[in-house]
Amino acid sequence: MSTKTIELVAAPKAPHFVGDGFRVHNFIPSGFRLDMERMSPFILLDYNSKFHFPPSEKPKGVGVHPHRGFETVTIAYKGKVQHHDSSGGGGIIEEGGVQWMTAASGVLHKEYHEEEFSKKGGDFQMVQLWVNLPAKDKMSKPKYQGFSNENINKYELEDDRGTIEVIAGHYKDVHGSAATFTPLNLLNAKIKAGAKADFSFPEHYNTALLVIEGQVNVNGSEKVPTDHFLLFENNGEDFVIEASEDAVVLVLSGEPINEPIAAQGPFVMNTKEELRQAMKDYGMGKFGYLEE
Ligand code: MN
Repeated sequence: MSTKTIELVAAPKAPHFVGDGFRVHNFIPSGFRLDMERMSPFILLDYNSKFHFPPSEKPKGVGVHPHRGFETVTIAYKGKVQHHDSSGGGGIIEEGGVQWMTAASGVLHKEYHEEEFSKKGGDFQMVQLWVNLPAKDKMSKPKYQGFSNENINKYELEDDRGTIEVIAGHYKDVHGSAATFTPLNLLNAKIKAGAKADFSFPEHYNTALLVIEGQVNVNGSEKVPTDHFLLFENNGEDFVIEASEDAVVLVLSGEPINEPIAAQGPFVMNTKEELRQAMKDYGMGKFGYLEE
């Protein structure tokens, strides 16, 4: 047993809007040491910290756009997200729910605030992660895995100390709800004030935390406030999160995909040639059609 060392704690950078509905702080890839390679397989993390959207007749969001070569994972903490795609699919990501979309060979989709939520307005808080795919799976068939909160597997901490929601991977003996292409763990740790939870991941996995609610102490010393991000060095295996107030912490840990990354906008491939092909295919309508 050895403890992971903390590499950095990052405050959220100034937010920017994605479309008109997602007011996000970008943590990956960014100006810290968190480029796409450093946190692979997690190649993008946009965080809409809790933000009040006033009532709007027209749902805010982001219009039709493509993706190829990776997966998008949307976690709705507050508010609801609605989506439609070029295969005719669509749905609502409810509060507490997760959508795991494998874009792979390509989808066109649009992402909006859900209609009723838009009309009423309210607090909106969500994470969108991009999870890279290995070269052999980048052109596989697109698919969705959707989970309402009650369908996410959970580990109950002893003595009513909280709950670990296992979105993917595992926590102790509880396995994740989502299937993944490479080994990774994605957990929502809901820890009550004064309680602790321990975690253990292989040394070479890239491992980080994002504090969604409350404030925590990590390894008994480092204070991490709400909306802050903590990155571990690639040493040691274990760490402890102690909640100084009721806390929700997104825990990410995954085996790096050690392949070249060629990224441009919504396409993440291995080579520039594959990027050119993606743009050409998109231009030729090979991603299908979706009405704005
Ligand atoms: Mn998208």
